Amino acid sequence: MVYNSTRGGETNRTASEAILEGLCSDGGLFMPDHIPTFERPVVELKDMSYQELAYEVMKLYFTDFTEEELRHCIDAAYDEKFDTKLIAPLVKKDNAYFLELFHGKTIAFKDMALSILPHLMVTSAKKNNVKDKIVILTATSGDTGKAAMAGFSDVSGTEIIVFYPYGGVSRFQELQMRTEPGWNTHAVAIRGNFDDAQTGVKRIFGDTAFREHLRETAGVRLSSANSINIGRLVPQIVYYVYSYCQLLRSGEIALGEGINVCVPTGNFGNILAAKLAKEMGLPVKKLICASNENKVLTDFFGTGVYNRERPFILTTSPSMDILISSNLERLLYFTVDQDTKEVQALMEALAEKGEYRITDGMRAHMQDFYGGFAKEEAVAGTIKALFDKTGYVIDPHTAVAKTVYDAYVKETGDMTKTVIASTASPFKFAPSVISALGGNGNLDDVFAVIDMLSEKAGVKEPAAVSEVRTAQIRHNTICELKDMEDVTEEFLIEDREKF
Ligand SMILES: *Cc1c(COP(=O)(O)O)cnc(C)c1O
Repeated sequence: MVYNSTRGGETNRTASEAILEGLCSDGGLFMPDHIPTFERPVVELKDMSYQELAYEVMKLYFTDFTEEELRHCIDAAYDEKFDTKLIAPLVKKDNAYFLELFHGKTIAFKDMALSILPHLMVTSAKKNNVKDKIVILTATSGDTGKAAMAGFSDVSGTEIIVFYPYGGVSRFQELQMRTEPGWNTHAVAIRGNFDDAQTGVKRIFGDTAFREHLRETAGVRLSSANSINIGRLVPQIVYYVYSYCQLLRSGEIALGEGINVCVPTGNFGNILAAKLAKEMGLPVKKLICASNENKVLTDFFGTGVYNRERPFILTTSPSMDILISSNLERLLYFTVDQDTKEVQALMEALAEKGEYRITDGMRAHMQDFYGGFAKEEAVAGTIKALFDKTGYVIDPHTAVAKTVYDAYVKETGDMTKTVIASTASPFKFAPSVISALGGNGNLDDVFAVIDMLSEKAGVKEPAAVSEVRTAQIRHNTICELKDMEDVTEEFLIEDREKF
């Protein structure tokens, strides 16, 4: 298996090279040259543990890893960091099956991939004789920052610096980052917004002289934990297969029976993983792509036009407040049979004109996708209705998916059993959840709100929350935008002296 850029500028990379590189030098994304099919019939996968299944899936993509290397990465990632042995349990409520992807360190689905990415990177570095320390630089609007810090925490051979907007993340997210104990982690507040942080990180990546200086003086190689890394996409395929196995095991479906999958979508990574699972041979019928009020993707699947020229709306599902869904480029590539010129033309149109239109032929290839979106009031209504009916509490992202799913069923009458990707614990977004459930009063004290939620839902708060309550604050740096390079250098060079 080799990896090629969706835009044609890079070809024939091994999996480990693609993981180390992250984004292609031509701005494209790495894609495998073909989608593999399962080596064994699904019935033989049915009783596997999450870790065994992860190996069965990932070995088909990361073909230059030895069995020992890959199993080591999997075992180091999916261990007692997760608060359930099942790793990703499936819960039947109302008319759907919720695939809970929030049992990791930061109680959101990014943990599923960010727990393994550091190990894949370190192994990739070894395989390619890269002796430098891998230093991850990431700008975050809140969620990815802590998930990445937790993933890289104490992984030797790596270090991570996260930049977040000062005053621009929720109090809980800020505390999550500032209390991270890993010795090789740093969180820095910058005086600016998320875009400024992102621009600053891109500036550092683009500064060849600075990177060379870091390499020479500190022996480090900068890298990114961005969601376009193939080392994040592939691990996400696993839990869709695993959800199907759980349905089989519990007798909810018969072998070979098709299911639908409904995914609350932002950057299009999670749902693309479901599409890959389908292409590998998992009996998936519809892929229901659920958006919040930033409904670029709903419009895209409805009309064939992708148009980012629209107001950016802040919603209660912030991780889906996105106008450019980067991973969609991979679906396009797939749809045009790897015609990189075609993908390049579409991406240029997006960059220059803010929109592109795909052909009817391409649309015909996307018939298994259904796009829908949910308005804010409907999302809150769904949280309340599901709770009143079943006592089960979901977070606003998951509620976007449930809302869209209910509308889909109403519109189509399709009663195919459906797995909904449940991407965050309600405790992570407690103020929005409590207000949806009709709670009132002061929602500013985040821990008081968490207590309210715990009491209302009759669920104990996850350990990830309790830890933040008592943990010591370790990260205190605040910097100006122009000083991001200096701060980076200070951390890396001081650290070299310390360790
Ligand atoms: C990142 C995220 C999403 C969106 O996932 P994509 O792979 O970007 O589509 C949805 N929900 C939560 C809670 C997230 O953190």
